[in-house]
Amino acid sequence: MFEKIFALLAGDEEPPELIDDELWLATLQSVPLLTALPPEKQNRLRVLAERFIQEKQFCGGDGLEPDAAMATRIATLACLPVLELGMDWLAPIREIVIYPAPFLVRHDAPDEFGVVHEGYEALSGEAWGHGTLVLAWPDVLESGWMDEGHNVVIHEIAHVLDNGNGAFNGFPPLHRSMDIGEWTREFTAAYESLNRQLDQGAVTLIDPYAATAPTEFFAVTSEYHFERPDILARAFPQVAKLMEEFYSGGR
Ligand SMILES: [Zn+2]
Repeated sequence: MFEKIFALLAGDEEPPELIDDELWLATLQSVPLLTALPPEKQNRLRVLAERFIQEKQFCGGDGLEPDAAMATRIATLACLPVLELGMDWLAPIREIVIYPAPFLVRHDAPDEFGVVHEGYEALSGEAWGHGTLVLAWPDVLESGWMDEGHNVVIHEIAHVLDNGNGAFNGFPPLHRSMDIGEWTREFTAAYESLNRQLDQGAVTLIDPYAATAPTEFFAVTSEYHFERPDILARAFPQVAKLMEEFYSGGR
């Protein structure tokens, strides 16, 4: 589908830019998180986003037909977490499926008594282990506003990074300069603290969804790291510091 939108010329001719200047500027200007980046980072991000568009397949669900603007917005937000890590981290992703609205998935969850409740849950995003990223377009449009700290694209990319060592457990492959013991200690302490606060009925700085599983804690705090690092630093300063180390490539 995207071969048509981003047509590459065959033969000796120079390939056209995958994201033309007009579309790139419109993308930057429509997402405050991208507008706020220094030009040097914007330029490097553009190169990664073009690679992302070239390497991944974009498809639509429920009759949605992805256009170049959609692909560019998603690709740019998807590459932001790996700007200092490199595209290899996104190698597991093969396709991105965009839905026009939050999509329903079958959800069979055991409750605290071990009874499995079957039903459907409306989701804004999902990262599947075998390389598919599913996103609801309205949630993509709500990402990148630097207000409440939500960003569905960064959330799903964080799951992909988390799964880099074969498990969704909030423990991505760490850089050599990082201390595995410190990561485990600080993330476990913060996760347990958030759960305790919620058990006590407290209103938490961080979205309570982070308390549902360690992988969700990593994904949600990744959203805050990019969108609202100030809130993350207030809620869990040690986690904020480790996130900074992780996403800056451990240097
Ligand atoms: Zn999640």
